[in-house]
Amino acid sequence: MNILTQKVALALGSNIGNAAETFALACKLLQSNGFNVTAMAPIITTAPVDCPPGTPDFANSALTGTFDGSAEELLNLTQSIEVELGRPQQHGFHESRTLDMDIIIFGRQIIHTPRLTVPHPAARQRMFVLEPLAQIAPDWIFPDSGMTVSQAYCLLQERS
Ligand code: ATP
Ligand code: CA
Ligand code: CA
Repeated sequence: MNILTQKVALALGSNIGNAAETFALACKLLQSNGFNVTAMAPIITTAPVDCPPGTPDFANSALTGTFDGSAEELLNLTQSIEVELGRPQQHGFHESRTLDMDIIIFGRQIIHTPRLTVPHPAARQRMFVLEPLAQIAPDWIFPDSGMTVSQAYCLLQERS
């Protein structure tokens, strides 16, 4: 691991097409573009949240890995993979999608730019993010709150 290498957690979501295939392809594309995948959570099926009526259920997963570039560079990569796997570059907010990949944790970095908020601000309120992530990275820390993934997951379980 060089000095720039960051440990990264991504959330994956899909509600169009074969999610297992899409996630496997996304992993492959990440791996061949400098993102070393270390673990991927089993896929769970979740009801849509904040989506129009009739929206199909989602498949969700999470993965961890290491990346040698910046968070912006990783966002460029995840967005290009989303498009390559069938998500239109221009899309509506919370529109159905073949693939959504969000950066949940990027090392210990706390980022607030027009393009990026990291840790992802909604992660702590989303079971569909925390449940898969807690399976592969329970001890990872959200650097903004200081909470581990499993603490955030337990807290959300208590509240819901
Ligand atoms: P949500 O962010 O609520 O899960 P979404 O994933 O459906 O919604 P998108 O349309 O995929 O939203 O992304 C909208 C914008 O969010 C992206 O263009 C990107 O610049 C920005 N963004 C901000 N923070 C992050 C992050 N941590 N990971 C991914 N994208 C982010
Ligand atoms: Ca998302
Ligand atoms: Ca997204």
